[in-house]
Amino acid sequence: LQSRLPKVGTTIFTVMSALAAEKGAVNLGQGFPDFDCDPALVDAVTQAMKAGFNQYPPMTGVPALREAIAAKIAALYGYAYDANTEITITAGATQAILTAILCCVHPGDEVIVIEPVYDSYVPSIELAGGTPVFVQMEVGPDGYSVPWQKVAAAVTPKTRLIMINSPHNPTGSVLRDADIRALEDIVRGTNILIVSDEVYEHMVYDGARHESVCRHPELTARSFVISSFGKTYHVTGWKVGYVAAPAALTAEFRKVHQFNVFTVNTPVQHGLARYMADPAPYLDLPAFYQHKRDLFRDGLESTRFRLLPSDGTYFQCVEYAAISSLPEADFAKWLTTEIGVAAIPVSAFYNQPKESGIVRFCFAKKDETLRLALERLATT
Ligand code: PMP
Ligand code: GLN
Repeated sequence: LQSRLPKVGTTIFTVMSALAAEKGAVNLGQGFPDFDCDPALVDAVTQAMKAGFNQYPPMTGVPALREAIAAKIAALYGYAYDANTEITITAGATQAILTAILCCVHPGDEVIVIEPVYDSYVPSIELAGGTPVFVQMEVGPDGYSVPWQKVAAAVTPKTRLIMINSPHNPTGSVLRDADIRALEDIVRGTNILIVSDEVYEHMVYDGARHESVCRHPELTARSFVISSFGKTYHVTGWKVGYVAAPAALTAEFRKVHQFNVFTVNTPVQHGLARYMADPAPYLDLPAFYQHKRDLFRDGLESTRFRLLPSDGTYFQCVEYAAISSLPEADFAKWLTTEIGVAAIPVSAFYNQPKESGIVRFCFAKKDETLRLALERLATT
């Protein structure tokens, strides 16, 4: 069989989680919480199952959940999507990303991705027959930023899509208003579409606001906006997310979606719809995670790791040049095996391996887990 994805192996997240388990290391690698979700959410899903919501829901998702999402986006970002024609429930953000790409990228089309880039984007583009065009973020004293003039220079008549992700995995950087304006300038007057991966929308710190493309009507009109309940409600294993997009884009998205998964499990959708009635869980999330970020950063301050900013997400990147000159993947393995803390090499988020001497830690962990990791990291 000739592989459709010849360059793809096992993902770095699976590799590092397996190594962490084998070595008994604290797993700050793969991004997922080590604490449980709100029992009220489990109750809401259980009640939906007991109430008999166990058969196929509509292809597009349970109406109450689509309505709750539309209301939330309108309240937070000021854009009123039509819940019937513009919101679709997906099997996590991963399926939303793949489906959005498949529905609009034709063989030979170019898709601009910004590195470091989340690992599913490029294989998804390749499955569609598209060509990824890479622009690298720059790292300065203030952390990572997008060089928009390089994005502009990467645009050609074949550019179909630009993929953005804010708050950004793995760097923890967030796009600000000026970034969004730069993107608006680049796409104005073109047919370029945007996939905006906003799965960490509720993890923005220090009082800053999440710059959703939904706040910017010029961009909203050409965007697939994607989010995931896994991140927001501490249920990464439930794999439920959504895409919001103008009706014409949503119609094409749904053509692919209905033959991709057709629809997403029913009781979880009903449970989420009920749980969303209370905005407190997502409104409280920045403070919840900022506490963990600060605990982790304060602990690392006295080590030889150099902290990069973490303005959003539940990731903290660190430079380790003062500790080791190993390449990132080897350093992450050494840290897991010898120090007992797993991390993710940022080089895994580049198409051509690039060594920056930076690894990523996930701080979506119990405070006690973070303290144990810090004790071990202090020995490096
Ligand atoms: N995009 C980004 C940037 C992510 O970090 C993740 C989660 N690792 C996803 C998409 C996928 O989310 P989901 O688990 O809902 O498929
Ligand atoms: N998004 C998670 C991370 O970046 C991993 C998800 C996965 O394992 N695919 O760590």
